[in-house]
Amino acid sequence: MNNDHAPYFTTVKRVVIKIGSGVLTEKNGLNLNVIKSISQQISILIDRGIEVILVSSGAMASGTKKIGLLQRPVDIPGRQAVAAVGQAGLIMEYEKSFKTHGKKVAQILLTREDLSSRKRYLNARNTLNTLLSWQVLPIINENDTVAVEEIRFGDNDNLAAMISLLLDADLLISLTDIDGLYDSDPRSNPAARLIPVINKITRKTELLASEIPGALGAGGMLSKIKAAKKVTGAGIPMIIVKGEKEDILIKLFSSEKHGTFFTPKEKKLASRKSWIAYTIKPAGVINIDDGAAEAIQNMGKSLLPCGIVDIEGDFGVGAAVRLQASGKVLGTGLVNYSASDIRNIMGRKTCDILHPTGGKPYNEVVHRDNLVLTPE
Ligand code: GLU
Repeated sequence: MNNDHAPYFTTVKRVVIKIGSGVLTEKNGLNLNVIKSISQQISILIDRGIEVILVSSGAMASGTKKIGLLQRPVDIPGRQAVAAVGQAGLIMEYEKSFKTHGKKVAQILLTREDLSSRKRYLNARNTLNTLLSWQVLPIINENDTVAVEEIRFGDNDNLAAMISLLLDADLLISLTDIDGLYDSDPRSNPAARLIPVINKITRKTELLASEIPGALGAGGMLSKIKAAKKVTGAGIPMIIVKGEKEDILIKLFSSEKHGTFFTPKEKKLASRKSWIAYTIKPAGVINIDDGAAEAIQNMGKSLLPCGIVDIEGDFGVGAAVRLQASGKVLGTGLVNYSASDIRNIMGRKTCDILHPTGGKPYNEVVHRDNLVLTPE
């Protein structure tokens, strides 16, 4: 087992730091001491030449308290309204605090849709890179005020994972209100033990995490494990640590061991492939036979119409779809044909395909270059 994660910290040039609502808020709203401490630590990292991107929750929790509600509203307009109230105060406090260290901040609010379109994805990347080149700290949150279910990231763990992929970060740090992943819930079981390193995320890891819900934010431990699965699958390490620990960021970068570290896959996934695999929301499923599964998994082949047995969903050309065989997800790819065209050509040999317009636009339903296999 690889227990030495120090080398990952000493080589980091670009880091995404996610801070959860549980760390940022206290009884009466935002915890200003936490904001002060995090700003100071991040400023030290920036001064050392590290590029930092902050993904900050806390808008809803802070807005809820500011309006004087006892708990987060359950209705969508209510939630969106408290997020609007809270986001303003959140950024104002960050701005004030970073200013004392001579640092500038920028607010970026995103919906999942912004990263699903390749064009907008690249735009967001260019803007963020420009801010980083100016040494401005981007502070990112979900655009809760306009995001509805279909265009939501769902939680900021997922958002932070997608930002790490977007910017090809070297590390994702998740600052939360518990020390890391334990073998049971430490809030109810004092004998619970911290797991310092996870080299492979298994079903068991997910089950453990699902028993440890979050107190305030949307996430909880399971959404952090899902984020870890995405980034480590694309070759980026992640660590979950307690945000309130004194100077935690500085300690991590001095190679002190804290929290739970998730070892990445050895090879980094090219940025376009990580966008296909983890960022765009799949619009359907293509079920394929064993022969096609073998060709795709072990022979580096594309998906041809003859290997398709069934499809689910209604999607257009260029959509992302999951490929499955016998119920098992094999990967994600972009389709060259719409769902209705695939229904017409599936099961047929490639040479039999004739487009209604007379031509045969593509031999492959999913070309190898647009296909990413799910890690085993
Ligand atoms: N975007 C939400 C907020 O700022 C938080 C979502 C989450 O906690 O994951 O309040």
